[in-house]
Amino acid sequence: MPVTVYILLVFAVLLLSFGYYASFFIDSKVYVKAFCRGQGMERKIALTFDDGPDETMTARVLDVLARHHVKAAFFLIGEKAGRHPELVRRMVREGHIIGSHSLTHTGLFPFANRVRIAAELEKTRDILKAITGKTVCLFRPPFGVTNPAVAAAVRAGEYQTVGWSLRAFDTRRRVSRERIRRRLLRGLHPGAVVLLHDRCDKADSLVEGFIMTAREKGYEIVGLDQLSNIKVYEN
Ligand SMILES: [Zn+2]
Repeated sequence: MPVTVYILLVFAVLLLSFGYYASFFIDSKVYVKAFCRGQGMERKIALTFDDGPDETMTARVLDVLARHHVKAAFFLIGEKAGRHPELVRRMVREGHIIGSHSLTHTGLFPFANRVRIAAELEKTRDILKAITGKTVCLFRPPFGVTNPAVAAAVRAGEYQTVGWSLRAFDTRRRVSRERIRRRLLRGLHPGAVVLLHDRCDKADSLVEGFIMTAREKGYEIVGLDQLSNIKVYEN
């Protein structure tokens, strides 16, 4: 193979690898400055839940959080929020933070253009405002994917993007809740932003077990806004 072709191939592989890293690793911060973890060495962590509200599991998760006096953040899918406004109102009433996780969360979301993405974000903001009276500032991209179109929509809507530093991988059905809990505990670190899903099977027992063992290890569970000075609502 001629040297120039070889060099071009290596360059192409490097470029593709960088593109993958930039898009699929939200903490790469290539396209958006996502908040992914608190700074400092204090043993404080925040819990975040994606993809709700779910008609069966969310209320149970909220029960667990209330029982343990934990305030979490919920990144809501606009269409689902519209179908279950009572759960959204309960979140806010009980002191949790709500943010946007797009309107539809379809698999094609990362491939949409900036106009479509911006429209999804604005519609979700309108739905959440109609339910709670609050204008949300926080956005977590579906699948954690960022790209120039997502970045443009985030800028246009003046959103603060939120990522994570510790992921439960709780959407994988074949992995036992106990294994997920152990993995979370292994990965615990000061300032951790923990990603969970309140739509998942046994989400309530998973989060309850995690809260108890994290506290045993000396971690305090605080609101996302206590890990960092991020603006949560416009009003
Ligand atoms: Zn999601």
